[in-house]
Amino acid sequence: MTDFSTLGLSAQIVSRIAKEGYEKPTPIQEKAIPLVLEGRDVMGLAQTGTGKTAAFGLPLIDMLLQNGRKPDPKTVKTLILAPTRELVNQIAENLRIFARKTPLKVNIVVGGASINRQQHQLAAGTDILVATPGRLLDLLDRRALRLDAVRFLVLDEADQMLDLGFIHDLKKIASLVPDQRQTMLFSATMPKSIADLSSRFLNNPERVEVSPPGKTADKVDQAVHFVAGKADKVELLRQELSNNPEGRAIVFLRTKHGAEKLMKHLDSRGFATASIHGNKSQGQRERALKAFKTGEINVLVATDVAARGIDVPGVTHVYNYDLPEVADAYVHRIGRTARAGNDGKAIAFCTPEESGLLRDIQRLTGIEIAIASGEPHAHADRPAKGRGGRGRGGNASGKPARRARPSGGNGGQRHAGDARDGGHRDSANRHGPGRDGQSKPRPRRQRNRQNDRRQSA
Ligand code: AMP
Repeated sequence: MTDFSTLGLSAQIVSRIAKEGYEKPTPIQEKAIPLVLEGRDVMGLAQTGTGKTAAFGLPLIDMLLQNGRKPDPKTVKTLILAPTRELVNQIAENLRIFARKTPLKVNIVVGGASINRQQHQLAAGTDILVATPGRLLDLLDRRALRLDAVRFLVLDEADQMLDLGFIHDLKKIASLVPDQRQTMLFSATMPKSIADLSSRFLNNPERVEVSPPGKTADKVDQAVHFVAGKADKVELLRQELSNNPEGRAIVFLRTKHGAEKLMKHLDSRGFATASIHGNKSQGQRERALKAFKTGEINVLVATDVAARGIDVPGVTHVYNYDLPEVADAYVHRIGRTARAGNDGKAIAFCTPEESGLLRDIQRLTGIEIAIASGEPHAHADRPAKGRGGRGRGGNASGKPARRARPSGGNGGQRHAGDARDGGHRDSANRHGPGRDGQSKPRPRRQRNRQNDRRQSA
């Protein structure tokens, strides 16, 4: 059976990650690590949760350690670009664990945090820089760093970076990185725009793929409540949350305004809740996530900025309070639950206006979502105007949809590596007034113009 030592990683790295409980590589790690170590460009089709950070992070750290030379002042050896602050933080957190007890320096560059501090950190040179594109360009404008020593470039969640309008920033950044480099691109989906990006930035890449994106939905128990109108959703959500006092839930809405309003409503009704969306400062977003991870709050109200990347073991419920405009987002949202070997439920609320969106989701995932209450709205099978999954082919081929496992089931396939974090337990009932100070937003210092504009969700 494959273990990490057979993939070509050094004994030092293998023993480091063994201490973190990494015994068996996940499929994406098994495929990508040897290729990266060989020096190949890699185009990975994989979602967060599949272990892709280690798939590129471990071989990169290994190669940086082999090379041994310290980075010159203001230079960067490895540049990792990701769409959101949360994802950047999470990637850096993982890499710092992998690189513990080595001299490698991992720095972060994100909007919403002090740019002067980031500038200061970059001065001594950086082995691995994890960045959102907008803030990186701001720092390049200030000549806080140079990219002419970058040897390795990683574009993570590339499809979301394109969705957020980062294409020009990416082109600009890539033009500052030497052509003589190794590039890795990871994306959860493979629309034509990503294929174009890949052919532009990667050199004869090897493509690696783990479970087709739409399949993720298989692992989660899914159900839908058909409701007559928006007003019914609040009541239904309150009931659901009250029925699951031990649960840990993420509630997704389409708009920042809607998310904030709902969070305040739930808070006023005694639920321990906070919100994450594009109007929150980085500090607020981090505090909300931390409170959610520690169990101080158990309901996180979010827009799609939190749909990807966030890795909180033990999320028991994902509520699609509003169905997403783009079917892909549904798959990302529900992927926040049933992680790390735990069970998860995804519950959607569907008004008559959202019927077309539900149809798109069912087509994309190939799953007919079980009905929890209400009746399917008339014309539910009418195509939604101008919307839908982004040409992934596969499931949208008119095949009969499979019915999702009824809620409450446990079985189902899990992907490799799911034994991880298996010891997580929810603590006691977390309902109660305890909040993390979200209601007193601090003034935003050093706002990052570009990130803030783009991370509008
Ligand atoms: P990622 O897809 O990189 O966000 O990883 C998802 C989660 O899986 C993170 O909590 C990782 O620490 C964990 N993980 C990744 N690879 C492994 C592995 N081979 N064994 C155990 N846990 C892993």
